Amino acid sequence: MESGPEKVRVSIGSAIVLGLVRGVVSAEPTTIYLLTYREGRCSANCAFCPQARESTARTDMLSRVIWPDFKLEDVLSCIKRAFGDGRIKRVCIQALNYPGVHRNVAYLASRIRSTADVPISVSCQPLNREDMTELYMVGVERVSIALDAATEDIFSRVKGELVGGPYRWSTHINALRIAVEVFGRGNVTTHLIVGLGESEEDLVATIQRCMDLGVFPALFAFTPIPGTKMADKSRPPIDYYRRAQLAHYLITRGIKRYEDMEFKGGRLVGFGLQRESLERIIMSGEPFLTSGCPGCNRPYYNEDPRGPIYNYPRKPTPNELMEIMRQIGIPALKQ
Ligand code: SF4
Repeated sequence: MESGPEKVRVSIGSAIVLGLVRGVVSAEPTTIYLLTYREGRCSANCAFCPQARESTARTDMLSRVIWPDFKLEDVLSCIKRAFGDGRIKRVCIQALNYPGVHRNVAYLASRIRSTADVPISVSCQPLNREDMTELYMVGVERVSIALDAATEDIFSRVKGELVGGPYRWSTHINALRIAVEVFGRGNVTTHLIVGLGESEEDLVATIQRCMDLGVFPALFAFTPIPGTKMADKSRPPIDYYRRAQLAHYLITRGIKRYEDMEFKGGRLVGFGLQRESLERIIMSGEPFLTSGCPGCNRPYYNEDPRGPIYNYPRKPTPNELMEIMRQIGIPALKQ
């Protein structure tokens, strides 16, 4: 086995669950989130990201979460114990973009694999087929390549040429296709950030496009972070996020397609489902749970625990469900 960094960053919630630091979490992560260790910033320049090349945010932050570093050996033995005890369902390795990152990720994945049988996801930049195959061979189960933006235009403004970033929409889409060939349909994830300036119709069309490609889209709510280019932008309105979650649920479960839904001026006004069925689905609470790889609940990744909660890391309570019903604006919706 090649050698690699003997340190790794661990999200603070994961570090608490693993017993690496003392603390209390209001919802326990069921996935352990790791971040490749590197002195310095990512070489990409995504406008929303605290790790971006030109961001002035802390380098131990990703989204609104802090990621302290630990000795790899200690993290591995804690993962082994937590998986053995049934306290965690998955490990997700998130990778910054820098030369040689793929080798570090493969090293980390192979060390985890030789320690525990836990399913491993890798969230990374578009890699070539050879590198993806290597990740598959060392035991990575799923890969995620984040589109983040729902349209090509927004992509160039927040990740691509217009912010001096290395990414191009077509390269990302192509990498997602290759990932599906390497890992299989349904074993590839992408991240979509809601609230980057897209219309509701743009977002729902992209959710459908991802599913048709065999890629599962995970929804995130845009979170402004001090020190990033988008620090002064607002979070998405909660009613939009709820409609997005509901449309996402209907499409990803194969209940309805984008073409069945109705839009007015870009806004989602009909889900193409009888009101009764829609209400039953809403009251199940399922559409509002964190979406992504199986077992990924990302507690408070996007939100302050005091609310509003965009992605629920556990089932919403009956009171929360009534609130969600109001947020969606059911009376205004067509059947
Ligand atoms: S959905 Fe969760 S487990 Fe999957 S790549 Fe994204 S953050 Fe990681």
